[in-house]
Amino acid sequence: VADQRSSEPFRFFWPVPRAGYRWVPGSDGQLRWLVKSPPAGPSRLPNRVTWPLRDKPDLFQTFAELETGEEEILAFANQHGRLGLAVASELHSALPLLGGRPVAVAELRRDWDRAIRRMRLACELSAAIAGNDRAVLRHCIHEESWGPGHFSDHAVRFEVPERPDAWLRVTPRDPEAQLLRRGDLRRAAQVLLQHATNEALELHTSAMVLLDEETERQGIYVNPKNLLGALWVQFAQSIDSGGSSKRCAECGNWMRLAPGTNRSDRDFCSDRCRVNAYRKRKKAAAELHRKGMAPGVIAKKVGSDLKTVRGWLGLRKLG
Ligand SMILES: [Zn+2]
Repeated sequence: VADQRSSEPFRFFWPVPRAGYRWVPGSDGQLRWLVKSPPAGPSRLPNRVTWPLRDKPDLFQTFAELETGEEEILAFANQHGRLGLAVASELHSALPLLGGRPVAVAELRRDWDRAIRRMRLACELSAAIAGNDRAVLRHCIHEESWGPGHFSDHAVRFEVPERPDAWLRVTPRDPEAQLLRRGDLRRAAQVLLQHATNEALELHTSAMVLLDEETERQGIYVNPKNLLGALWVQFAQSIDSGGSSKRCAECGNWMRLAPGTNRSDRDFCSDRCRVNAYRKRKKAAAELHRKGMAPGVIAKKVGSDLKTVRGWLGLRKLG
């Protein structure tokens, strides 16, 4: 009996319209909305379907690094889809009109901005915890005193002073506040991270029992309700794995570092990138040699040692 899960306990796919999205003003002429572009050509093009949890496990990093400009958001939405945010009922009258009727699916620019800023803060907080970066914690965690009568008598906030447009906060009304200890910034950071993540997971995911038709296995799945939920599931997985991420030194893609991995052990995401980087260093060394640079200086410049560089350049062994 196959007791093994065919994959991780997540089941999520997301439609992306082939014609993409565009920005339009709302019927009030003020708010900016992201709406589907009309299908190009005579036939209605179907959606593409993406599986971000399976295919792009670090998409949340890309999302966190988006600038909140319309072009960047549009490019992200065209590639990965809309976030799946609901429109607050008081804003229904401001929805953009199409043929005199409000469009069915639209997302507010300001909701995207807010979602990006929160994910960015969460990533920064997570990196500060993983790297035990005391300077960042001291700079960005602010403690506030409240009176008695709640779960705790103090609140904490994570806010980058240079970017006061967003923050993460745990107030004494939140049950997690009981975990706070005055003056313990690392603990405060962990509680903030947990609170922000759980808030997003609560809103944008659910748990479900699903039947896998291939394996006949019925099991419990975490079910993101939308793309934003999937991004926060990815983020939660990065906390769960205890590892942190870094960029590949060659292609710049994000890669997950398993716990216990020495950061310097893994500079490249793949053998291909490792080989490419090696070839580039070798080529650069030859170039510098042609220009008359001494092998010792070249070695420093390309980040290698003298023996290796002399070998590349076909120079006789020393001594
Ligand atoms: Zn790479």
